[in-house]
Amino acid sequence: MTGSLNSRCTSTRRSSGHVIARTPLVCIVVILALLTGASGSDLRTYEDADSVVFKGVWDGDTFYATIPGWTKIIGDSIKIRVLDINCLKTAPSQDSTHPGKQAKALTQKVLDRAKVISLKETQRGESFRVVAKVLVDGEDLGGMLVDSGFAIECDQKCSRFFVYATPNSKAYHLISCSQGGESQNKKRLTIEDARGGNLESCYYCNPDRFVGGD
Ligand SMILES: [Zn+2]
Repeated sequence: MTGSLNSRCTSTRRSSGHVIARTPLVCIVVILALLTGASGSDLRTYEDADSVVFKGVWDGDTFYATIPGWTKIIGDSIKIRVLDINCLKTAPSQDSTHPGKQAKALTQKVLDRAKVISLKETQRGESFRVVAKVLVDGEDLGGMLVDSGFAIECDQKCSRFFVYATPNSKAYHLISCSQGGESQNKKRLTIEDARGGNLESCYYCNPDRFVGGD
């Protein structure tokens, strides 16, 4: 068996040595390009965390958790920022009906009741934070907040925000807005493109209030 494998390799190398010699070089170039691209856009992902221990909510899109198996300086009650969404920030002066406070209450409730909280697509965030997709008993926490109208979808750096509009819209909406038209006709676009198309932020769901912050 070993003998036949060896002879096959030898004969391949003999018949097309230049192809074999060139292939690893191509691989290395591709890998280097991928690595450079990943670090250039600062979106390197790290290992998943399968079962983190919830420690408390900061606001709707940020909470504290301890990550078993990670070194303590990183994993002990670290701030976790939910990937790809942005909630309104909370302030002491706001009452409980403020959407930022409602987002915080929803996240608190969901994480309090969770059996298993896991982190996927884990990234290093600013200010000693972990940024990750958060799964609560298999369900996406960010998706829950967006569906509830307490968060807007954004890209991984929260530099571009996404809204919804139908072909004849005068306004752009959150996905959850009942004023946004039939769901099958809703088209996802960036706020910049919506504004460029002379659409305005919906009076009811007001996506603009979610833009900015961290
Ligand atoms: Zn709306």
